[in-house]
Amino acid sequence: MELVCPAGSPAMLRAAVDAGADAVYIGLKDETNARHFSGLNFNDRQAQKSLRYAHDNKVKVFMAINTYAQPESIQHWYDAVDLSADLGVDAIIAADIGIMDYAASKHPATNLHLSVQGSATSIQALEFYANEFGIKRAVLPRVLSLPQVKQLAAGSPVDLEVFGFGSLCIMAEGRCFLSSYVTGESPNTFGACSPGSAVRWEETPTGRNSYLNGVLIDSFGENEKAGYPTLCKGRFRANGNQFHVLEEPTSLNTLQIIPELEAAGIVAIKIEGRQRSPAYATRVVKVWREALDDFQQSKSSFTVKREWMEALGSVSEGAQTTLGAYSKPWQ
Ligand code: SF4
Repeated sequence: MELVCPAGSPAMLRAAVDAGADAVYIGLKDETNARHFSGLNFNDRQAQKSLRYAHDNKVKVFMAINTYAQPESIQHWYDAVDLSADLGVDAIIAADIGIMDYAASKHPATNLHLSVQGSATSIQALEFYANEFGIKRAVLPRVLSLPQVKQLAAGSPVDLEVFGFGSLCIMAEGRCFLSSYVTGESPNTFGACSPGSAVRWEETPTGRNSYLNGVLIDSFGENEKAGYPTLCKGRFRANGNQFHVLEEPTSLNTLQIIPELEAAGIVAIKIEGRQRSPAYATRVVKVWREALDDFQQSKSSFTVKREWMEALGSVSEGAQTTLGAYSKPWQ
């Protein structure tokens, strides 16, 4: 299986390539991708240089243009598609059917992948994107259990990529507008959940508070690790108790189901985290490279090493990992 790794900057791209990625995914410095944060992403020149570095090392580059275009500024999305095709990316990752239509008709030689933001969970949805836009691959949303992934893979008209590691949210990919209720901006249209300009920290006598556009998201104790203020991971008061009402901060980790994913015919494993650091890329990609290579050698005797879990645990949200929706024992 191909290891698809995040690159939020040229330095992170180099780190991912050097650590053993088979492919990296990047975004441009505007609202056309779902990680539109200041200081992140690539301008034309950086993209060109980074692409050369990746290709020189036989690593593919995918361009995420995976937000939903807005009528008044749709030219930004078209420009992003044109630039990506000119740069010679190995695929464009898109979700908006208007943008897919533009890419498919204007640049038929450029591969198209359906973004996780497209949230395709049925054979019919995959067939639609394959028939209408000729997508080569779809990234499955993180709402599916392992049996459901297997079922889709058995009948999919296109290659499938799944998430293997990284931060989880409440898993309404392409459909969550929580952030826009508080900041006016959501990942789907603007590319940013909890945009940095709306974030404020306040030191308190007992620790620190985090705010999003003036709304208290969490209060942390003195020695508690403070997470970025994300609405779905805030601690709110409900029924007289203050707790993670929607979801506890945690990261997905699927090392233990590598054999089942491969047996199902999954072609690629995606690592989340373009907003993280080059050091994160190095650590996570190294572990996954080693694990996938180890699996290729050992196959049926493959076991997850404790040091891999520890290394991934140390960069996980809330220092805890889960199999997420892959494991739904009640189904
Ligand atoms: S609010 Fe949470 S669920 Fe919604 S996009 Fe942001 S991180 Fe994801």
